[in-house]
Amino acid sequence: MPGRKKNHHKNNNNSRARHQRGGQQSKDKQEQQDKEQSPSPTEEKELPYRVEHSDIYGRYLVANRQLEAGETLIREEPLAIGPCVSGDPVCLGCYHPVSLKADQYRCPGCAWPLCGSTCAGLKHRHGHTETECQLYAERRAVAGELLTERAGPAEVRDLYELVMIVRILLLRQHDPEQFALIARMESHTEERRQNAVLWRHYEEKVVQRLRVTWQLEDLEAEQVHEVCGILDVNCFEIGQNGAKARTLYPSAFLLAHDCTPNTAHTDDPSSFEILLRTSRRVREREALTLSYAYTLQGTLKRRAFMHEGKLFWCCCRRCSDPRELGTDCSALVCATCRTGSVRAVDPLQQTGDWACDRCAHKMGATEVERQLDRINNDLEDIDVHDIPGLENFLLRCVCIHGS
Ligand SMILES: [Zn+2]
Ligand SMILES: [Zn+2]
Ligand SMILES: [Zn+2]
Ligand SMILES: [Zn+2]
Repeated sequence: MPGRKKNHHKNNNNSRARHQRGGQQSKDKQEQQDKEQSPSPTEEKELPYRVEHSDIYGRYLVANRQLEAGETLIREEPLAIGPCVSGDPVCLGCYHPVSLKADQYRCPGCAWPLCGSTCAGLKHRHGHTETECQLYAERRAVAGELLTERAGPAEVRDLYELVMIVRILLLRQHDPEQFALIARMESHTEERRQNAVLWRHYEEKVVQRLRVTWQLEDLEAEQVHEVCGILDVNCFEIGQNGAKARTLYPSAFLLAHDCTPNTAHTDDPSSFEILLRTSRRVREREALTLSYAYTLQGTLKRRAFMHEGKLFWCCCRRCSDPRELGTDCSALVCATCRTGSVRAVDPLQQTGDWACDRCAHKMGATEVERQLDRINNDLEDIDVHDIPGLENFLLRCVCIHGS
């Protein structure tokens, strides 16, 4: 994926790409969508895909005919765009990194840091609009002015997390048609409500902050939670040349998840359009898929990531196969016999045992996870430009993962 930094997948369940089709789609939403969004038969005929519905996946896209690798499926501009939930301060116009130092250029109206007075995203609908600026300008002391070097990383993260949520809520007021296209997306609000930690986070950091601290009392708590859910479930993470943003697209959100997806996407750095293409030949009626998880990660981590962020356990062909369709992406060198490979006995059992194929050595999934975290942390500590450091890391990994 262009613009994605290494190990971007680590612990950022809110900011990584996309929606899920896992779990049943709520019936109301589905009925509402069926009414609102079904393309006319002539429209559908011309498209390389059509929308289908299943009780398990909800609405999803299937190929209308056999598609060859590299065919363009979708090219569309975002319905909404905003900073990622990474905690790194970015320009609200172009999503390039900014600092919180005293000499950083700031918006004269609202005091949020910007890349400069000539940023292409100022007063642009995909950037810092006048409406947004005015809202922040009226709350300088509890928004832009808090973004200084003295602000803790959690505070910075929380403030940037609000930006896209507020943008969507502003659309509701100022562009109801655009908002309606977002509101039809799945939010899994009821499942989220059952998750106490997740719900409390959004209640405290988003709902209360907007309604109490920012005095936006007119916002209904339910509506805010709904928008937070829609974002978590459906957003893409995009950006190139250092820029990083999250986006909602009008059709791309309908792609189902698969750990060996048949599409790939890029994004246009100036228009933030998404360009989605087939990555291999796709049979007629086959579901069009993309991966919400980092495809180079092993099954244990991929499934945990999707469950945490997207609330479903993937059971795709790759996840079900201990050898991951021949890639052996998860196998570890056996620490006992040194010749065998240790794999999950049943990869769909997240806490099940791992066993060597040559000796009696066994490992628990928790131990495997600890080992994977250690490796990931090691990699995180190496600068991307440190070639000898990375080569050394690879040599160390051969002992654990095999060649
Ligand atoms: Zn900028
Ligand atoms: Zn401003
Ligand atoms: Zn899978
Ligand atoms: Zn062994």
